[in-house]
Amino acid sequence: MLEQVSARVWVTTSPTWLTTSSVVVADDGACLLVDPALTPADLVSLQGELTGRGWHVAAAFSTHPHWDHVLWSEALPDDVPRWATPAAATACPDEELAAQAARDLPGHRWDVVGGTTPLPPDTTELPWTGPRAVVIATPGHAPGHASLHLPAEGVLVAGDMLSDVEVPLLDDDGGALDAYRRSLQRLADVVAGCDVVVPGHGRVADAAEAGRRIDADHRYLDDLTAGVDPLDPRLGDPRVRAEHEAQAARLGV
Ligand SMILES: [Zn+2]
Repeated sequence: MLEQVSARVWVTTSPTWLTTSSVVVADDGACLLVDPALTPADLVSLQGELTGRGWHVAAAFSTHPHWDHVLWSEALPDDVPRWATPAAATACPDEELAAQAARDLPGHRWDVVGGTTPLPPDTTELPWTGPRAVVIATPGHAPGHASLHLPAEGVLVAGDMLSDVEVPLLDDDGGALDAYRRSLQRLADVVAGCDVVVPGHGRVADAAEAGRRIDADHRYLDDLTAGVDPLDPRLGDPRVRAEHEAQAARLGV
């Protein structure tokens, strides 16, 4: 189930919305889970695979406060930090996330999922003993959205950006569009020095492919704001098309 993408990073992808979970492994087998997902059964089998490899979960990181990126399971240890940026950790009440999850994909026990652990303000690297994990603020999709850069691995775990299956989906606050564009610019510099880019939904990319996705995302946002129907193959998915139409309506274009 786990696919190795660099010396110390593995990724698994759920068939539902091609949702990715990333595992960063330290020398001693301590693991950092990034956005572990997606179904309750997926999480049980993820823990089983980690145990089978002699690894143990030491910490987790949630890229942003959407229900499919804050998940947890009774199969996973309940005494490890599950970091998020301070804005992400406080953005959305658990009851709201639980209600969204119950509507989209029932079965998660929200009393187990609970909440994330806010990182101290202005944290730039995760306080763990494994490969250096740099937190890059990339707002626009959700409050406090952050990507994780593992420089020694040449890996960027992008969160819900740089997807080949979803167009940029904007947070519904007023400044999201500009914030999203700035986040794309910030990631362009990081991506240029990476070998592997992991989107929250979709296929793992190399730097060239991730660069094409950044260009496609800018084009999509240009068309969205100009009120032009984008010629974007990602809109062939009815779910993504519906999200596109909803955000076009919100922007009044
Ligand atoms: Zn999201």
